Amino acid sequence: MDKFREECGVFGIFGHGESANLTYLGLYALQHRGQESAGIAASDGTQIRLSKAMGYVNDAFDANSLASLPGEMAIGHVRYSTAGESKVANAHPIVIDSVHGQFAICHNGNLVNAGEVREMLVREGAIFQTNSDTEVIVHLYARSREVGSERAIVDAISQVRGAFSFVMMTPNRVMGVRDPHGFRPLAIGKLGDAWVLCSETCALDLIGARYVRDVEPGELVVLSESGIKSLKPFAPAPQAQCIFEHVYFARPDSYVFGESVNEVRTELGRTLAQECPADADVIVPIPDSGVCAAVGFSDASGIPMRMGLIRNHYVGRTFIQPQQSIRHFGVKVKLNPVRSIIEGKRVVLVDDSIVRGTTSRKIVRMVRAAGAREVHMRISCPPTVSPCFYGVDTPRRSELIAATHTLEEIRKYLNADSVGYLSHEGLTSCVRGGQSRYCTSCYTGVYPVAFPRDEAAYLQLALKLNSEPEPPTTTEVVLPSLEKDSIAS
Ligand code: SF4
Repeated sequence: MDKFREECGVFGIFGHGESANLTYLGLYALQHRGQESAGIAASDGTQIRLSKAMGYVNDAFDANSLASLPGEMAIGHVRYSTAGESKVANAHPIVIDSVHGQFAICHNGNLVNAGEVREMLVREGAIFQTNSDTEVIVHLYARSREVGSERAIVDAISQVRGAFSFVMMTPNRVMGVRDPHGFRPLAIGKLGDAWVLCSETCALDLIGARYVRDVEPGELVVLSESGIKSLKPFAPAPQAQCIFEHVYFARPDSYVFGESVNEVRTELGRTLAQECPADADVIVPIPDSGVCAAVGFSDASGIPMRMGLIRNHYVGRTFIQPQQSIRHFGVKVKLNPVRSIIEGKRVVLVDDSIVRGTTSRKIVRMVRAAGAREVHMRISCPPTVSPCFYGVDTPRRSELIAATHTLEEIRKYLNADSVGYLSHEGLTSCVRGGQSRYCTSCYTGVYPVAFPRDEAAYLQLALKLNSEPEPPTTTEVVLPSLEKDSIAS
């Protein structure tokens, strides 16, 4: 599907005899945040042991691997690589031995100055074993002259910039930290006497833990025999929590940044209905991500919502494209229209975002083929016009349909009767604190954390290369790469 790709999910627990098993369950709940690899490191108080593998949580662990992870503390990770290749060496947790003792780390986010820090470390003789941006933290920690693991961690983290929620472990402590801008979420929970850290509260629900609060932006929490300790060792910074967590990434049964994702997402749909009403007979969500917004759209518009598109949940990463002659199934493998709901109706399709537009176009075509009289596309966020540099996998700007096309051009390309996006003001009005607490860079192109000049130049150059096709200047929409794709479908 034509979506931004989730980043990673992190989990940690201190003070429970079943720590590795509970981490395994927690990672199950966070599987939507990364499907390429999964890993768990556990400590029995003296030694950290590690098990990690490529694939889903279910593939990565079995009873034997979990039994090899004894102890009352553990951290775990599901990964989708946003920096570094997809291979097991890059999977997290990363575990090392150092002058400060053993250390394990999991990362959700992207360090924007990892390249320059890495270059500096390599010049000084460091040898890197992975190309994960997280390894720079490991080197900075190991080389820190501060005394004690907590001070060494603060020293290391002070030297990196960007988006990070780290969950870390020494043989007798579990620690969690959010970057001072608070890009990525990290929640604290309690299970009996045990403390838990996780990207989303749906992981707490699965293991029967209670949500206590979020780790605050710039806060380092230390879980040990003495309980929970909070440190604020970093200079405060303007908050820039990722609004796309609410729009798409997080599960609707989670709380992120202290708010119910379901409630925010439903409110996005209500606001969208007020801003971009449609004269229609039925609201149809594009499953699963459009469901909450469609409920809100239906609430506000009074138009009934029906599940007019059914998703096949069993199409995974491993779907093998059939040979060319029978490849024309396209999106039909994943979605199928319900003709009895759609036929003869004026349909409003509600989705959370449009990235390249290729999938949306196929869905509109499919809904028309099922007999829709009109198809109106409504999107519960503003046009996506810029890539993310904070830990989310996004295409280059030149591939984002809204970056290079007007609303009317997008409507024509999708072959919809109308297209409406939520406004930026509408989006930020649906979250507590509004723009002042959130990053909305993929909708504005205004970035809260600067990049090193060479990295920005490299990425920006790719966006602005003259060899990229120019945006069309006529009303006839010509998208050479997209046209090719649509012919294949
Ligand atoms: S640019 Fe978009 S996806 Fe990236 S952190 Fe900001 S809001 Fe989230």
